[in-house]
Amino acid sequence: MRDHRPRQQVWSIVPPHMLEAIAQNGTPEQRQMAMATLSADLGFRAERLVAEGASGTSVASAGAGSPHKNRSVFSADNGTSLPGTLKRSEGAAATGDAAVDEAYDGLGGTFDLYWEVFGRDSIDGNGMALIATVHYGNRYNNAFWNGSQMVFGDGDGVIFNRFTIAPDVEGHELTHGVTGATAGLEYHDQPGALNESLSDCFGSMVKQRMNGQTSAQADWLIGQGLLAAGIHGVALRSMKAPGTAYDDPTLGKDPQPDHMSRYVNTSSDNGGVHINSGIPNKAFYLVATGLGGNSWDRAGPIWYRTLTGSGLSATASFADFAKLTADNANSLYGSAVRDVVVQAWRDVGIDLATVASWYYDKAVLSTFTSPHSMNAWAYIEDLGWRKIQPLTPDGVTNMFDLLTEAQASGRKVHVYADGSLIYQAYSV
Ligand SMILES: [Zn+2]
Repeated sequence: MRDHRPRQQVWSIVPPHMLEAIAQNGTPEQRQMAMATLSADLGFRAERLVAEGASGTSVASAGAGSPHKNRSVFSADNGTSLPGTLKRSEGAAATGDAAVDEAYDGLGGTFDLYWEVFGRDSIDGNGMALIATVHYGNRYNNAFWNGSQMVFGDGDGVIFNRFTIAPDVEGHELTHGVTGATAGLEYHDQPGALNESLSDCFGSMVKQRMNGQTSAQADWLIGQGLLAAGIHGVALRSMKAPGTAYDDPTLGKDPQPDHMSRYVNTSSDNGGVHINSGIPNKAFYLVATGLGGNSWDRAGPIWYRTLTGSGLSATASFADFAKLTADNANSLYGSAVRDVVVQAWRDVGIDLATVASWYYDKAVLSTFTSPHSMNAWAYIEDLGWRKIQPLTPDGVTNMFDLLTEAQASGRKVHVYADGSLIYQAYSV
């Protein structure tokens, strides 16, 4: 089995498929820069060690319950040494250097979302200092999180503008740190696309909250403002309409699918982690807009609990994730909100009725092996009672019959034993 995880992971905002298009279609200078960026990982990994030694990620030690907002923005002065020269630390006045000040504000917007909405004290939940370096490299066309800090290029001004221009880039990159500290979703195939999607969801919430925009007002673009004036496109990705963010002679066409029927099977980009993330992105957009208000009011907490709860495995599929969001929606806000979540996933081709069947199966297996099993009944809403008793002719001979009936009719199932509700499931 292939190990997809490099020893030192670097998460870049410009996905490989975009850089490959530039390497194919760009001018000689653009091609050279794209290829240099694609092959630069080894350099970053060596520099990361320098960054860790130089800046550290110290944890402040104030009392529990108070946040540790501690930002430092450095400049690499167009070199590649990290972290570079300190330009602005926490509480200091604006510098007048747009890249420095935008980076400072984006780190702040990200910290504030996590603390004020989710009660999370920085990336690691333990007050990790937020460090950024701007003016990295010479017209460098990317931004990345290296596990300890953020790094921003200035862009070449022909394809990309400076990377601090879009605060969702900071939210996206720092969320890779949150995911690494919590669910640890593996960075390949569906768990990798979920990892990418979570960064877009929280990155977009950072931007929407900084702008004071409701879900209906937001543009749901990732990296709006990053593409230079001559490029045919509006952003890196669109959560509202995946696959429509750009279509350009140099960048190619946005390859993101918006539905499971268009899922892209590929070996590049670790199994299309920046491509298939369009599917869960669209689901989040549908939940947030379906619920109304701000994305961080209810959709955000449902996704945050799913990301940080114990149920999400590092190898979760889209369907595993979807099921957990429905469960969390139900426990946080009740069945009407859960139904919005279920419908959103159905709209992108993930039907929780299909997903749920093996969850039922596990629950029913335990029902059958418990002392309750001789007196267990299931109630299918609007259809009536069925006795769950495989050994009697009048009972349901196995749970799959009952599930088939429930799924066919779109009904909820309630399982009782000795008069008590022991399991409730839905098959919408
Ligand atoms: Zn990413």
